[in-house]
Amino acid sequence: MITLENVTMKYKASSRPALSDLSLEVDKGEFAFLIGPSGSGKSTFFRLLLKEDKPTSGQVYVGEFHVNTLKARSVPKLRQSIGCVFQDFRLLQQKSVSDNVAFALEVIGKPPSTIRRVVPEVLDYVGLAGKADRMPNELSGGEMQRVAIARAIVNRPLVLLADEPTGNLDPETSEEIVDVLDRVNRRGTTVVMATHDRHIVDAMRRRVLEFDNGRLVRNDPQGVYGIG
Ligand code: ADP
Ligand code: ADP
Repeated sequence: MITLENVTMKYKASSRPALSDLSLEVDKGEFAFLIGPSGSGKSTFFRLLLKEDKPTSGQVYVGEFHVNTLKARSVPKLRQSIGCVFQDFRLLQQKSVSDNVAFALEVIGKPPSTIRRVVPEVLDYVGLAGKADRMPNELSGGEMQRVAIARAIVNRPLVLLADEPTGNLDPETSEEIVDVLDRVNRRGTTVVMATHDRHIVDAMRRRVLEFDNGRLVRNDPQGVYGIG
Protein backbone atom coordinates (compact mmCIF):
# COMPACT_ATOMS: atom_id res chain seq x y z
CA MET A 1 0.00 0.00 0.00
CA ILE A 2 2.91 2.31 0.83
CA THR A 3 6.31 1.75 -0.75
CA LEU A 4 9.42 3.89 -0.50
CA GLU A 5 12.48 2.96 -2.54
CA ASN A 6 15.79 4.56 -1.61
CA VAL A 7 14.17 7.84 -0.70
CA THR A 8 16.40 10.73 0.25
CA MET A 9 14.94 14.09 1.19
CA LYS A 10 17.08 17.17 1.60
CA TYR A 11 15.24 20.39 2.27
CA LYS A 12 18.32 22.37 1.30
CA ALA A 13 21.21 21.15 -0.79
CA SER A 14 23.65 21.95 2.00
CA SER A 15 21.76 20.56 5.02
CA ARG A 16 21.83 17.01 6.32
CA PRO A 17 19.02 14.94 4.82
CA ALA A 18 15.69 14.68 6.67
CA LEU A 19 15.42 11.17 5.18
CA SER A 20 18.43 9.16 3.99
CA ASP A 21 18.12 6.35 1.49
CA LEU A 22 14.90 5.17 3.13
CA SER A 23 13.25 2.00 1.84
CA LEU A 24 10.16 0.52 3.45
CA GLU A 25 6.81 -1.06 2.74
CA VAL A 26 3.52 -0.98 4.61
CA ASP A 27 1.09 -3.60 3.33
CA LYS A 28 -2.59 -3.15 2.70
CA GLY A 29 -4.54 -3.54 5.93
CA GLU A 30 -1.58 -3.10 8.24
CA PHE A 31 -1.45 -0.93 11.36
CA ALA A 32 2.04 0.55 11.65
CA PHE A 33 3.54 2.74 14.36
CA LEU A 34 6.13 5.30 13.33
CA ILE A 35 8.42 6.09 16.23
CA GLY A 36 11.64 7.99 16.70
CA PRO A 37 12.85 11.21 18.29
CA SER A 38 11.72 14.63 17.24
CA GLY A 39 13.49 15.57 14.01
CA SER A 40 13.97 11.95 12.90
CA GLY A 41 11.86 12.41 9.74
CA LYS A 42 8.36 11.23 10.62
CA SER A 43 6.52 14.31 9.38
CA THR A 44 8.69 14.45 6.30
CA PHE A 45 7.63 10.87 5.52
CA PHE A 46 3.95 11.88 5.75
CA ARG A 47 4.52 14.94 3.57
CA LEU A 48 6.15 12.86 0.85
CA LEU A 49 3.19 10.45 0.81
CA LEU A 50 0.82 13.39 0.35
CA LYS A 51 3.05 14.99 -2.30
CA GLU A 52 3.33 18.09 -0.13
CA ASP A 53 7.06 17.83 -0.74
CA LYS A 54 8.95 15.86 -3.33
CA PRO A 55 11.94 13.68 -2.56
CA THR A 56 15.43 14.67 -3.64
CA SER A 57 15.80 11.11 -4.96
CA GLY A 58 14.01 7.77 -4.74
CA GLN A 59 10.52 6.53 -5.47
CA VAL A 60 7.28 6.91 -3.49
CA TYR A 61 4.18 4.77 -4.10
CA VAL A 62 0.79 4.93 -2.35
CA GLY A 63 -1.75 2.35 -3.54
CA GLU A 64 -1.96 2.68 -7.31
CA PHE A 65 -0.30 6.09 -7.26
CA HIS A 66 3.31 6.57 -8.30
CA VAL A 67 3.63 9.77 -6.34
CA ASN A 68 6.79 11.01 -8.08
CA THR A 69 5.23 11.15 -11.53
CA LEU A 70 1.72 12.17 -10.48
CA LYS A 71 0.46 15.15 -12.46
CA ALA A 72 -0.65 18.22 -10.52
CA ARG A 73 -4.25 17.65 -11.58
CA SER A 74 -4.17 14.14 -10.04
CA VAL A 75 -2.78 15.22 -6.67
CA PRO A 76 -6.29 15.85 -5.23
CA LYS A 77 -7.16 12.22 -6.05
CA LEU A 78 -4.09 11.05 -4.15
CA ARG A 79 -4.97 13.22 -1.15
CA GLN A 80 -8.57 11.98 -1.15
CA SER A 81 -7.16 8.48 -0.78
CA ILE A 82 -5.24 9.46 2.36
CA GLY A 83 -7.09 10.49 5.51
CA CYS A 84 -5.11 12.61 7.98
CA VAL A 85 -5.44 13.13 11.72
CA PHE A 86 -3.24 15.47 13.75
CA GLN A 87 -2.28 16.10 17.36
CA ASP A 88 -4.10 19.45 17.36
CA PHE A 89 -7.33 18.10 15.77
CA ARG A 90 -7.62 20.95 13.19
CA LEU A 91 -11.39 21.19 13.28
CA LEU A 92 -13.25 24.06 11.67
CA GLN A 93 -14.20 26.03 14.79
CA GLN A 94 -17.18 27.80 13.20
CA LYS A 95 -18.79 24.55 12.08
CA SER A 96 -20.72 22.01 14.12
CA VAL A 97 -19.56 18.41 14.53
CA SER A 98 -21.75 17.18 11.68
CA ASP A 99 -20.80 20.14 9.45
CA ASN A 100 -17.11 19.44 9.99
CA VAL A 101 -17.66 15.93 8.64
CA ALA A 102 -20.13 17.00 5.95
CA PHE A 103 -17.62 19.52 4.63
CA ALA A 104 -15.22 16.71 3.66
CA LEU A 105 -17.98 15.26 1.48
CA GLU A 106 -19.15 18.60 0.07
CA VAL A 107 -15.71 19.50 -1.25
CA ILE A 108 -15.62 16.35 -3.36
CA GLY A 109 -19.10 16.99 -4.69
CA LYS A 110 -21.17 14.36 -2.89
CA PRO A 111 -24.90 15.02 -3.16
CA PRO A 112 -26.79 16.31 -0.11
CA SER A 113 -28.81 13.09 0.11
CA THR A 114 -25.62 11.05 0.51
CA ILE A 115 -24.23 13.52 3.04
CA ARG A 116 -27.41 13.38 5.14
CA ARG A 117 -27.18 9.59 5.22
CA VAL A 118 -23.44 9.09 5.70
CA VAL A 119 -22.62 11.75 8.32
CA PRO A 120 -24.77 10.28 11.11
CA GLU A 121 -23.46 6.79 10.29
CA VAL A 122 -19.84 7.78 10.60
CA LEU A 123 -20.47 9.85 13.76
CA ASP A 124 -22.14 6.82 15.26
CA TYR A 125 -19.16 4.70 14.19
CA VAL A 126 -16.64 6.88 16.06
CA GLY A 127 -18.85 7.11 19.15
CA LEU A 128 -20.32 10.57 18.68
CA ALA A 129 -23.97 9.75 18.23
CA GLY A 130 -25.91 12.56 19.90
CA LYS A 131 -23.12 15.15 19.51
CA ALA A 132 -23.84 16.08 15.89
CA ASP A 133 -24.99 19.63 16.68
CA ARG A 134 -22.26 20.53 19.17
CA MET A 135 -19.63 23.09 18.31
CA PRO A 136 -15.95 22.09 18.62
CA ASN A 137 -15.42 24.35 21.66
CA GLU A 138 -18.12 22.38 23.49
CA LEU A 139 -16.22 19.10 23.14
CA SER A 140 -13.56 17.32 25.17
CA GLY A 141 -10.20 16.62 23.53
CA GLY A 142 -11.14 13.01 22.96
CA GLU A 143 -14.39 14.03 21.32
CA MET A 144 -12.58 16.51 19.08
CA GLN A 145 -10.23 13.78 17.95
CA ARG A 146 -13.22 11.51 17.22
CA VAL A 147 -14.62 14.24 14.97
CA ALA A 148 -11.26 14.50 13.22
CA ILE A 149 -11.20 10.73 12.68
CA ALA A 150 -14.79 10.76 11.37
CA ARG A 151 -13.85 13.48 8.90
CA ALA A 152 -10.71 11.60 7.86
CA ILE A 153 -12.48 8.29 7.18
CA VAL A 154 -15.80 9.45 5.78
CA ASN A 155 -14.52 9.14 2.21
CA ARG A 156 -13.24 5.65 2.92
CA PRO A 157 -9.57 6.39 2.26
CA LEU A 158 -7.07 3.63 1.50
CA VAL A 159 -4.71 4.95 4.13
CA LEU A 160 -5.12 6.85 7.38
CA LEU A 161 -2.09 8.84 8.56
CA ALA A 162 -2.24 9.87 12.21
CA ASP A 163 0.47 12.27 13.38
CA GLU A 164 0.67 11.96 17.18
CA PRO A 165 -3.12 11.74 17.47
CA THR A 166 -2.97 11.16 21.24
CA GLY A 167 -0.31 13.80 21.94
CA ASN A 168 -2.80 16.16 23.62
CA LEU A 169 -4.88 13.51 25.39
CA ASP A 170 -4.71 11.87 28.81
CA PRO A 171 -3.81 8.15 28.92
CA GLU A 172 -7.35 6.86 29.24
CA THR A 173 -8.67 9.00 26.39
CA SER A 174 -5.61 8.04 24.32
CA GLU A 175 -6.56 4.39 24.66
CA GLU A 176 -10.10 5.13 23.51
CA ILE A 177 -8.81 6.98 20.45
CA VAL A 178 -6.44 4.15 19.54
CA ASP A 179 -9.39 1.82 19.91
CA VAL A 180 -11.26 3.82 17.27
CA LEU A 181 -8.22 3.74 14.97
CA ASP A 182 -7.95 0.00 15.54
CA ARG A 183 -11.57 -0.46 14.49
CA VAL A 184 -11.00 1.63 11.37
CA ASN A 185 -7.99 -0.57 10.62
CA ARG A 186 -9.93 -3.78 11.14
CA ARG A 187 -12.39 -2.65 8.51
CA GLY A 188 -9.52 -2.63 6.02
CA THR A 189 -7.98 0.83 6.12
CA THR A 190 -4.19 0.86 6.34
CA VAL A 191 -3.18 2.98 9.35
CA VAL A 192 0.18 4.64 10.00
CA MET A 193 0.43 6.37 13.37
CA ALA A 194 3.39 8.48 14.45
CA THR A 195 3.62 8.42 18.22
CA HIS A 196 5.79 8.90 21.31
CA ASP A 197 3.36 6.88 23.41
CA ARG A 198 5.25 3.85 24.65
CA HIS A 199 2.24 2.42 26.47
CA ILE A 200 0.11 2.31 23.32
CA VAL A 201 2.80 0.76 21.14
CA ASP A 202 3.53 -1.91 23.75
CA ALA A 203 -0.17 -2.71 24.21
CA MET A 204 -0.92 -3.02 20.50
CA ARG A 205 2.05 -5.09 19.29
CA ARG A 206 1.74 -4.05 15.65
CA ARG A 207 4.37 -3.14 13.09
CA VAL A 208 6.93 -0.71 14.45
CA LEU A 209 8.96 1.45 12.08
CA GLU A 210 11.62 3.30 14.03
CA PHE A 211 13.34 6.30 12.48
CA ASP A 212 16.54 7.86 13.69
CA ASN A 213 18.21 10.70 11.89
CA GLY A 214 16.24 10.06 8.70
CA ARG A 215 17.06 6.36 8.61
CA LEU A 216 14.93 3.31 9.29
CA VAL A 217 16.71 1.69 12.24
CA ARG A 218 14.04 -0.90 13.11
CA ASN A 219 11.20 -2.61 11.23
CA ASP A 220 9.51 -5.07 13.55
CA PRO A 221 6.21 -6.76 12.54
CA GLN A 222 4.98 -7.02 16.14
CA GLY A 223 7.18 -4.57 17.92
CA VAL A 224 7.34 -2.83 21.26
CA TYR A 225 8.45 0.75 21.83
CA GLY A 226 11.90 -0.40 22.87
CA ILE A 227 14.55 1.21 25.01
CA GLY A 228 14.69 4.48 23.02
P1 ADP B 1 9.82 14.53 12.99
O1 ADP B 1 8.47 14.61 12.39
O2 ADP B 1 10.30 13.14 13.25
O3 ADP B 1 9.99 15.43 14.18
P2 ADP B 1 10.68 16.05 10.66
O4 ADP B 1 10.34 15.26 9.45
O5 ADP B 1 9.77 17.18 11.03
O6 ADP B 1 10.88 15.07 11.89
O7 ADP B 1 12.13 16.65 10.51
C1 ADP B 1 13.25 15.93 9.99
C2 ADP B 1 14.39 16.91 9.71
O8 ADP B 1 14.03 17.76 8.62
C3 ADP B 1 14.70 17.83 10.87
O9 ADP B 1 16.10 18.01 10.90
C4 ADP B 1 14.00 19.10 10.51
O10 ADP B 1 14.64 20.21 11.09
C5 ADP B 1 14.09 19.11 9.01
N1 ADP B 1 12.94 19.81 8.39
C6 ADP B 1 11.64 19.47 8.50
N2 ADP B 1 10.86 20.27 7.78
C7 ADP B 1 11.69 21.17 7.18
C8 ADP B 1 11.49 22.27 6.30
N3 ADP B 1 10.29 22.60 5.88
N4 ADP B 1 12.59 22.95 5.90
C9 ADP B 1 13.82 22.60 6.32
N5 ADP B 1 14.07 21.59 7.13
C10 ADP B 1 13.02 20.87 7.58
P1 ADP C 1 -18.75 -2.53 11.39
O1 ADP C 1 -18.28 -3.49 10.36
O2 ADP C 1 -17.66 -2.09 12.35
O3 ADP C 1 -20.03 -2.87 12.04
P2 ADP C 1 -20.01 -1.07 9.39
O4 ADP C 1 -19.31 -1.50 8.15
O5 ADP C 1 -21.35 -1.62 9.71
O6 ADP C 1 -19.02 -1.21 10.61
O7 ADP C 1 -20.09 0.50 9.36
C1 ADP C 1 -21.02 1.19 10.12
C2 ADP C 1 -21.17 2.56 9.52
O8 ADP C 1 -20.05 3.38 9.92
C3 ADP C 1 -21.14 2.51 8.02
O9 ADP C 1 -22.44 2.51 7.49
C4 ADP C 1 -20.39 3.71 7.61
O10 ADP C 1 -21.22 4.78 7.28
C5 ADP C 1 -19.61 4.14 8.84
N1 ADP C 1 -18.21 3.90 8.58
C6 ADP C 1 -17.40 3.06 9.21
N2 ADP C 1 -16.16 3.12 8.74
C7 ADP C 1 -16.20 4.00 7.77
C8 ADP C 1 -15.25 4.49 6.88
N3 ADP C 1 -13.97 4.10 6.87
N4 ADP C 1 -15.64 5.40 6.00
C9 ADP C 1 -16.88 5.83 6.00
N5 ADP C 1 -17.83 5.41 6.80
C10 ADP C 1 -17.51 4.50 7.67
